[in-house]
Amino acid sequence: MLAYIGLGSNLNNPKEQIKRSLISLNEDEEIEVSALSSLYKSKPIDGSQQPDYINAVCMVNTHLTALELLHVCQRIELKQHRVREKKWGARTIDLDIIIYGSQVIASKKLVVPHPEMMNRAFVLVPLHEIEPDINVPVLGPLKKLIDKIDTSELIKL
Ligand code: ATP
Ligand code: CA
Ligand code: CA
Repeated sequence: MLAYIGLGSNLNNPKEQIKRSLISLNEDEEIEVSALSSLYKSKPIDGSQQPDYINAVCMVNTHLTALELLHVCQRIELKQHRVREKKWGARTIDLDIIIYGSQVIASKKLVVPHPEMMNRAFVLVPLHEIEPDINVPVLGPLKKLIDKIDTSELIKL
């Protein structure tokens, strides 16, 4: 199965945090990281006083189910000492499943495609870099989604 994971960090050397989590993903025997976007810099989505974020999106090839993949992502977050404070608060690492094949999932623990992806330049633009022609389940062509949002504050590093 092909899946896309969004990575974000704004604490304790964000670039290093992203690199570490990519290594951890790839080290899992059931996961192969097969593409990676550039790194991007973005502002916190809630406009609060916290450092800028570094974001990227990767493509993974995996035999894991979506829920198993989520659990791997959460283990990596814990390993990198993510502390769950308030919603959208600063964090060492955040791994979100953006797309999981053509599956549409809406359970308590997992919603795929990610329910906020269409509003987030820091997800859509890096995804476009690695998969420009993708048709997002339910949401449609990625290019059309990008046309609808403001990407001017996102900085490619
Ligand atoms: P947002 O989801 O708006 O990006 P967040 O990433 O800060 O916010 P978290 O605190 O990391 O939110 O996650 C809260 C819960 O979201 C997780 O415990 C997980 O069960 C759930 N969740 C639902 N869908 C997804 C998904 N596609 N990827 C990752 N987590 C998800
Ligand atoms: Ca997130
Ligand atoms: Ca998350």
